[in-house]
Amino acid sequence: MKKFIYSLFLSAVALSASAVEKQVKSPDGQIVVTVSDNGGNPAYKVTLGGVDFIESSPLGLVLDYGDFTKNMSIADSKEVKKQETYFLGNSKQSKIDVDANGTVYTFAQDGKKIYDVEFFVSNRDVVFRYTVHAQRPTFCCVVKKEATGFKFANGTTTFLCPQSGPMGGFARTSPSYETHYNVDDATGKNGWGEGYTFPCLFKNGDKGWILVSETGVNGRYCGARLMGGNGTLYNIGFPQEGEMNGLASVTPGLSLPSSTPWRTITLGKTLANIVETTVAFDYVEQLYEPSKKYQYGRGSWSWIIGMDGNTTYDIQKKYIDFSAEMKFESVLVDALWDTQIGRDKIKELADYGKSKNVALYLWYNSNGYWNDAPQGPRNIMDNIITRRREMKWMQSIGIRGIKVDFFGGDKQQMLQLYEDILADANDYGLLVIFHGCTLPRGWERMYPNFAACEAVRASENLAFGQNECDNEAFCATIHPFVRNTVGSMDWGGSTLNKHYGYDNIHGNTRKTSDVFALAVSVLFQSPVQHFAMAPNNLTDAPQWAVDFMKAVPTTWDEVKFIDGYPGKYAVIARRTGNKWFIAAINAQKETLKLNLTLPMLTAGETVKLYSDDAALNGSVKDIKVSKKQQVMITVPCNGGAVIVQ
Ligand code: CA
Repeated sequence: MKKFIYSLFLSAVALSASAVEKQVKSPDGQIVVTVSDNGGNPAYKVTLGGVDFIESSPLGLVLDYGDFTKNMSIADSKEVKKQETYFLGNSKQSKIDVDANGTVYTFAQDGKKIYDVEFFVSNRDVVFRYTVHAQRPTFCCVVKKEATGFKFANGTTTFLCPQSGPMGGFARTSPSYETHYNVDDATGKNGWGEGYTFPCLFKNGDKGWILVSETGVNGRYCGARLMGGNGTLYNIGFPQEGEMNGLASVTPGLSLPSSTPWRTITLGKTLANIVETTVAFDYVEQLYEPSKKYQYGRGSWSWIIGMDGNTTYDIQKKYIDFSAEMKFESVLVDALWDTQIGRDKIKELADYGKSKNVALYLWYNSNGYWNDAPQGPRNIMDNIITRRREMKWMQSIGIRGIKVDFFGGDKQQMLQLYEDILADANDYGLLVIFHGCTLPRGWERMYPNFAACEAVRASENLAFGQNECDNEAFCATIHPFVRNTVGSMDWGGSTLNKHYGYDNIHGNTRKTSDVFALAVSVLFQSPVQHFAMAPNNLTDAPQWAVDFMKAVPTTWDEVKFIDGYPGKYAVIARRTGNKWFIAAINAQKETLKLNLTLPMLTAGETVKLYSDDAALNGSVKDIKVSKKQQVMITVPCNGGAVIVQ
């Protein structure tokens, strides 16, 4: 007994003697991450300009062979540096410079090195991940739980999108990552009981903003969510048991040694760092070479106005003519083409499109055994044999890409399906859009034929419910600051119809202005944009609006935050080549009057200003940029403004 007490005493001494606290600072010294093993509990905290943004928060993993969230010590630490310039033609920024300081902390238990936690800190982002060591003779593990948490300061407010439960909603297709955001909400809640979908935005009182997300997720791990309900502490959560019809595992497996995805924290005193961050791409690698140079661009799709019944040969042909007229590069042929058009006629449409320089995208159902969505084509994309046979056929008739819908959650096996579809599609030169799907996590850089994910309450809801139209502006002012900052967003909007009906008489009434529609085409970023315009817009929409949409780009070289607040208004600038577009929308009752300072414009230069009057009637005029590089804009509720060089 005496010996036992003595050894207890010794280990307590060893524990406190080994307590280590180490810091890593951003290159400008403003962001400081402190990592510690105090009391045997791995933890980190983050300050910006000396102010707590993330208070002491847990780190650690529970693996199938041990609990490595406690009794841990920092056995070793090594400083590392990341400096890189890379190019990305399908995201919000084409040339990206990464400059980050890092430290790799090796955590041990009972003298055995278990995992490294690798931190990098740039002037706007903190990222970290775990690399689990092999423990001879063990070369694989199951990650039972990740303890990683994010503890915010008291007074922090939240801008979060609740995760929906599994196997619910339309044809048991949820979670489909398309619930509404709650803005300016209190901490301590847990959404609808299932946490929140990434990315998650927090406001640290009047001190600044924090965006939490993850990146580098592929078929070697699961996608995660953020769990709340514990005061200001939020934790990483694995997928829900019921996803994929209750099959497959909520816990990911790792071959050892290997790393988890990156946990990312973007922070700043304003929303600029959040809007301009490239953290989703900075720490991931391209996973295969592109099989060809992929062409992005604009397109039209009948489904958003015409729904399932209009996926017919005649209507799609009409949309090819419309895209050609609009100088759009594609038409997206949506659900049910397999039965309502047929493969032979699809080839005819593809040939007809070719004669007009309009390529086709084809829609597919992803299922499978994980939902009841009846729309075809079904049971092709979930299987390697049927999928590759279909892709070979698509390649033979010159199809540009696919839109695959109705995925079944974030389990590792589902992430493998996303990756398999992307890799196979690259073999056949096809771009990939995912719909009814999870958030893209660095995929623009990892998979060169990736175009976009939905993972947002997208334009289809405007066709489904008038209340969605009534709230369109409110929702649209959130996405540029949250969902769209970490990845391309397939929103499918910019309607110029007055009504969501094929005759433009019936259907839900659009409440937003035409200039709002133009502004959204700039605010919402995706390298492939299928706009919700219809052939009748050539005669019933204002000429200046149609002309704007004929010329708006979908690939951008730079993005700048100008002004805004999620749920109220958004003003964002995007550059393509040497031309800037500055777009604004307003969801507040009061008309917004802003004297924008725009350093990207030259004093005295003439620019075009698209704007609305009080009755939301739009017009365009030439204006001169002031000597102070300022432009005055007035944006009524549900209206927009766009400045174009
Ligand atoms: Ca959807």
